Amino acid sequence: MRKVFLSSILFWLSLAVAFQGFAQDNYQEKRKRMLEEHLRPRGITNKATLNAMGKIPREAFVPLSQKPFAYDDRPLPIGSGQTISQPYMVAYMTQALNLKQNDRVLEIGTGSGYQAAVLSQIIDTVFTIEIVPDLAQRAIHKMKDLNIQNVSVKIGDGYYGWKEKAPFDAIIVTAGAESMPLFLVEQLAENGRMVIPIGPHKGVRELVLLKKKKGKIRSKTLMQVRFVPFVREKQHP
Ligand code: SAH
Repeated sequence: MRKVFLSSILFWLSLAVAFQGFAQDNYQEKRKRMLEEHLRPRGITNKATLNAMGKIPREAFVPLSQKPFAYDDRPLPIGSGQTISQPYMVAYMTQALNLKQNDRVLEIGTGSGYQAAVLSQIIDTVFTIEIVPDLAQRAIHKMKDLNIQNVSVKIGDGYYGWKEKAPFDAIIVTAGAESMPLFLVEQLAENGRMVIPIGPHKGVRELVLLKKKKGKIRSKTLMQVRFVPFVREKQHP
C-alpha cells in the first residue's frame, strides 16, 4: 500500500518537473521570438540591449494570470493599478541611453522591476525608485529570487532623484511626467542622458531624450508614447 502511495507521489512529482521544464523551454522559445519579431525588425540593434532582453524572464515579473501573455508586445497589469511596460518600449528606451558598463544609472518607476533587471545585465549598478511600497517590496524579492545583486531599490518619490548616489550617467523615467523634473536634470552627470515621457496627464506624451553637455541641456523628441502617470507623494493615496 505504502509502495503504491510512494510511487504515485513520484509519478506526479516527475510529471510536475517535466511540465515545468516544458513551460521553461516554451518561455525561452517565446523570448527568442520576441527578439526576432518585435525588437530586431523595429530597429533594436544594440547588442547589449538584445542580449539583456534575451536573458531576463519577463514571465517572472508578471502575475500568474498574465504569464500566458508575458511575451506579447504590450504592457500588462502588475497590480496597484500599474503596468509593466511593453517589451519594445523597454528595449527602445534602454537602447536610447547608449549605455557603457560602468555607467551609473537611475530608473524612476521600478514597477515590477523588469526594466531594472534588463539594465542589470548591461551595467554594473542600477539604482531604481518606486513610489508604491508594495511594488518596491515585490521587486526587491524578485531580484533576490533571480539572484540579481546589482539593483538597489528605494521606496520614495522619484521626483527628487537620489541625491546621495548622484550624479548619474543615465536616467530613465518609466512613468509619464507632465513637465521635466528639475531635480533629475540636476543629478545628470556631464555627458549624461535621460529618457522621459512628457505630456499632459493621461494623454499621449512625447518620449524625450535629453543630453547634458558642458552644463547645457539639449533635448529631442523620439516618438509619441503612452505611460502610466508620474505621481507625486502628496497626490498618492
Ligand atoms: N519600469 C516598470 C514599469 C513602470 S510603470 C517595469 O519595468 O515594470 C510606472 C511606475 O512608476 C509605477 O510602478 C508607478 O507606481 C511608478 N511611479 C509613478 N510616479 C512615481 C514617482 N514619483 N516616483 C517613483 N515611482 C513612481
